[in-house]
Amino acid sequence: MTTEYDVAVIGAGPGGYTAALRASALGLKTVCIDKGAQPGGTCLNVGCIPSKSLLHASLHYDTIKEHAKELGLSVGDLDYDLAAMMRNKEQVVSQFQQGIHTLFANGKVDYIEGTAAFINPTQIQVGATIIQAKHTIIATGSSPVELPFMPFDGKHILSSTDMLALKEVPRHLVVVGGGVIGLELGSVYRRLGAKVTVVEFMDSICPEFDSTIKQTFAKILSKQGMDIHTKAKATGCTIQNDQVTLSCEIEGKLTEIICDQVLVAVGRRPYTNQLGIENIDLTTNAKGQIPVNEAFQTAQSNIYAIGDVIDGPMLAHKAEREGVCVAEIIAGRSPHINYAAIPSVVYTHPEVAWVGLTEEACKQHNIPYKVARSKNIANARAVMTQDADGLVKLIYHKENGQLLGAHIIGALAGDQITACTLAIAKKLTIQELATTIHPHPATCEVIQHAAMSALT
Ligand code: FAD
Ligand code: NAD
Repeated sequence: MTTEYDVAVIGAGPGGYTAALRASALGLKTVCIDKGAQPGGTCLNVGCIPSKSLLHASLHYDTIKEHAKELGLSVGDLDYDLAAMMRNKEQVVSQFQQGIHTLFANGKVDYIEGTAAFINPTQIQVGATIIQAKHTIIATGSSPVELPFMPFDGKHILSSTDMLALKEVPRHLVVVGGGVIGLELGSVYRRLGAKVTVVEFMDSICPEFDSTIKQTFAKILSKQGMDIHTKAKATGCTIQNDQVTLSCEIEGKLTEIICDQVLVAVGRRPYTNQLGIENIDLTTNAKGQIPVNEAFQTAQSNIYAIGDVIDGPMLAHKAEREGVCVAEIIAGRSPHINYAAIPSVVYTHPEVAWVGLTEEACKQHNIPYKVARSKNIANARAVMTQDADGLVKLIYHKENGQLLGAHIIGALAGDQITACTLAIAKKLTIQELATTIHPHPATCEVIQHAAMSALT
């Protein structure tokens, strides 16, 4: 059976399903294909949404355990039910999977479940169906990187996907990779009682973060009980009697760590397996990404790529924006993406959020800059809500005052970063941020206080 479309989208993650809905809304006959059991991609099925559900539940448990007394709360015997937590997470995921089916139905996007493979630049095979498409958008996402000497086995050596469905909390979990996934999922299980040891290759966790932020973040996580080793490399592992012995080189010294389970979170790699790109003369670069131009066109001009499978931060909101833009480009419009204003958030407690340039990037690019800071400890709302460890660091242009970067540690940093993202996108100055009236009492006042310290 052959079916004809203006646009075929391969992958129904945040990049793909957003692109398909926008293309259809712009009058293009559109099909979206995904090989997963449900649409939503990594983000909905095994990423952003399930991880945040577990972070939310475990944070409530931890807050009551750690702070009930000081807040004047009495809760009797506090406990948790991991299976129920998992069921709640699955319910949220399922609700949003159904939501995408409804959006596709209402938005007149055909949805096909199956693996799509290129036959040639205008034909795609999905099972027995051949799709004839004028334009194809590749939105096939990414998959976790495996360490060759300890491949994922789903039992002792775990990927982020395995961590989202554990049946028991490990007594001792080692996290290899002190990046976003390792620290978020490590936090979940630390809160539920696991001893968590982080083994990070570089000289700090989240190496690409602003230096002040990552130092403060590491101190906060250590205070919470995470055992963090930097300049530490996992070099091998043996599994015996249900225990893992992880060999590591920590600051040049060989060490063995005995634990129950290891989460390997050392990054993700663009996913192009089974896509048949060799049939259309497309090649990937050394990072496995599909090269594209500013209009998301690959080396085949009617084939586009977006999201985790191309260059740039592997973030759902970046993939979504690219999805909207590529559909508009195919429909003949000229949309714009501001890559300088993409926020990033780590959903630990406190959260860490940033947008724009770090101090290190300003130095590297010889950009004249100044720094304005303020700490949460001076903010009443932060103190009363156990959020006193946070801080705000703003980076602005030394000559014209334009906001260049914002870095926040705080319970609500992920929401607060939006104001700074808008300020950077709209080229506002630190003076404009300082003179914007903020609500009181709110932790976002710390942003205003930081900005006010820059007023002369
Ligand atoms: P994906 O979401 O990966 O979707 C790709 C889809 O393509 C998949 O459904 C796959 O089945 C399908 N596919 C692949 N090949 C084929 C084929 N040949 N035929 C048919 N279908 C195919 N980002 C954030 O912004 N915020 C977060 O809080 C966050 N948390 C995360 C937590 C975890 C644990 C993980 C792993 C990731 C997280 N991310 C987060 C990253 C985010 O999930 C990704 O950046 C985002 O999902 C990328 O979207 P995408 O559309 O490019 O690809
Ligand atoms: P990451 O790049 O954030 O962190 C990986 C860490 O592993 C790095 O700090 C790296 O130095 C370290 N590392 C690499 N090899 C190592 C080794 N052999 N031994 C020890 N450490 C090693 O990658 P991730 O945490 O796997 O996340 C993957 C992607 O998913 C990220 O790009 C991130 O943007 C996205 N994600 C985003 C969110 C969010 O937005 N809240 C949450 C989860 C994932």
